[in-house]
Amino acid sequence: MPELPEVETIKRELEQALVGKKITGVIVNNPRVIREPKTENFVKGVSGSTIKNILRKAKLLILELSGGRYLTIHLKMTGQLVYPGDGKKSRISFKLSNGKLLDFNDQRLFAELRLVSDWKKLKFIQGLGPEPFGINTARFKEMLDNKKTKIKPLIMDQSFISGVGNLYAAEALFRARIDPGRPAASLTGKEKERLLKEIIETLKEAIKYKGSSIDQYVQLSGMQGDYVKYHKVYGREGKPCLACGAPVKRIALGGRGTYFCPRCQK
Ligand SMILES: [Zn+2]
Repeated sequence: MPELPEVETIKRELEQALVGKKITGVIVNNPRVIREPKTENFVKGVSGSTIKNILRKAKLLILELSGGRYLTIHLKMTGQLVYPGDGKKSRISFKLSNGKLLDFNDQRLFAELRLVSDWKKLKFIQGLGPEPFGINTARFKEMLDNKKTKIKPLIMDQSFISGVGNLYAAEALFRARIDPGRPAASLTGKEKERLLKEIIETLKEAIKYKGSSIDQYVQLSGMQGDYVKYHKVYGREGKPCLACGAPVKRIALGGRGTYFCPRCQK
């Protein structure tokens, strides 16, 4: 699933490509991804509006439209936005005033598109914890106090911190040299400080390389993100740890495949 760096990459590319353009019509090839309002009203509401601004909150993309409405897009597992698109495998295509298409593809149909007047009132938004970029060390230390949950599932919990998923949690814990199965409250002050720093650094680096193309994630241009090359543990089971040479292990933790180095991460 795209995490914060992938969604931020798409957000920045949408900003460059689409702000100021008008959506002249909507082609609906599969209405299932339109969650709100009814398809007919969604099409009516979007058609004729101008894209004024692009926002992102955690993994949610928000297109601010003229007329005080917001088109929100949660890509979920396999959602893609491609511009300019060809409409060939799109579930929804947005026709733009320059004659080009913005395609929304979604192989598995888990994505959620909504047209709303106030995105801040969405249930999804109200349940979100702060983004890592907005947390300082003191606050992070406080947040981890008394948490008996294992550290990796905790930092992936969107109500605790938003934007970090399975991939970047594994990478940040490796870089902070912390065993993903440790109870959160057992981390020392230094470890907590290191972990927050590495979460932020990992996300920033991933944004710099336009995200990680695992599953179906692509940039707006349809090209893959480059960050997979720089993964230190994710997807590297059995390969030598880049720090110590011991084989990287994969275990299940909180129901998710978890990559780590048993020698470096304590
Ligand atoms: Zn190692």
